[in-house]
Amino acid sequence: MHCYTEGTMQVAERLSGYPEFHLTLIRNSRRPANMKEDPIHGTMLILGATLLRYIVVAGIPFLLFYVLLYKQTGHLKIQQRRAGRKDFLREIRHSLQSTLVFTLMGSLILFTPFRHYTRVYDHLTDYPAWYLPLSVVLALLVHDTYFYWMHRALHHPKLFALTHALHHKSTNPSPWTSYSFHILESFAEALVLLPIVWLIPMHPLGIALFMLSSFVINVYGHLGYEIMPRWFRHTVLFKIFNTSVFHNFHHSKFKGNYGLYLRFWDRLMNTEHPGYEKEYDRVQEQRFVNRKISQ
Ligand SMILES: [Zn+2]
Ligand SMILES: [Zn+2]
Repeated sequence: MHCYTEGTMQVAERLSGYPEFHLTLIRNSRRPANMKEDPIHGTMLILGATLLRYIVVAGIPFLLFYVLLYKQTGHLKIQQRRAGRKDFLREIRHSLQSTLVFTLMGSLILFTPFRHYTRVYDHLTDYPAWYLPLSVVLALLVHDTYFYWMHRALHHPKLFALTHALHHKSTNPSPWTSYSFHILESFAEALVLLPIVWLIPMHPLGIALFMLSSFVINVYGHLGYEIMPRWFRHTVLFKIFNTSVFHNFHHSKFKGNYGLYLRFWDRLMNTEHPGYEKEYDRVQEQRFVNRKISQ
């Protein structure tokens, strides 16, 4: 690379007689494409990735559990009713709108001067290799706390009708429900990125991995089926993590089970639905007695 650069410079000097001018051109042409310097390109990239994430991560489980395998698995749904085409279309429409809001927030953080007020870092080598996955876990923990309190606020009667009622139109959720929010709730959901980039040094790749893992867990919560293996119930993990039954219960009962990833805040604040564990056992019994979905 060194020799190539020197050779190119000599050719430029010979050809032009104005070495400095050509050296500047060469330096500029060799500068890597930087998204920070091309916010439109960067924003389009985020939009594409966010759309793709929604279509693939929600679409594949929907295709499997609601179309291809429905005859074999339909009777194992957490709620026996099946949401209709009208519900799916409404959920997809609002989810696409949320996708735009999340893109705007990502763009604000990465491509505007706002970035100077965050702890976003540019080079993966700025931190040891293990820090990237750790930053994603820390971001999920911040999100869990943010979501619990935001969610409880949105259940306040004065805010509920204006914002969160739209998400609760889906009393029997499916993967498409995962991002189905009123636009005001979409902004409230996307705002979580601010405490994350203020508190935690995050590389853009870490932010992308956080958004991806968060959405995968979100789709699991709205899946309409429980897919946890049988042994999960008998470990301490069951007491720590939410399940699909946990969030499904929130959609069918409206009250209780406000948490996103962990049971921590609901247990601490005494907001966990008292029938949750019984309902979990009922769903798993129905599933493992029939043995239609493999462990
Ligand atoms: Zn709710
Ligand atoms: Zn939900």
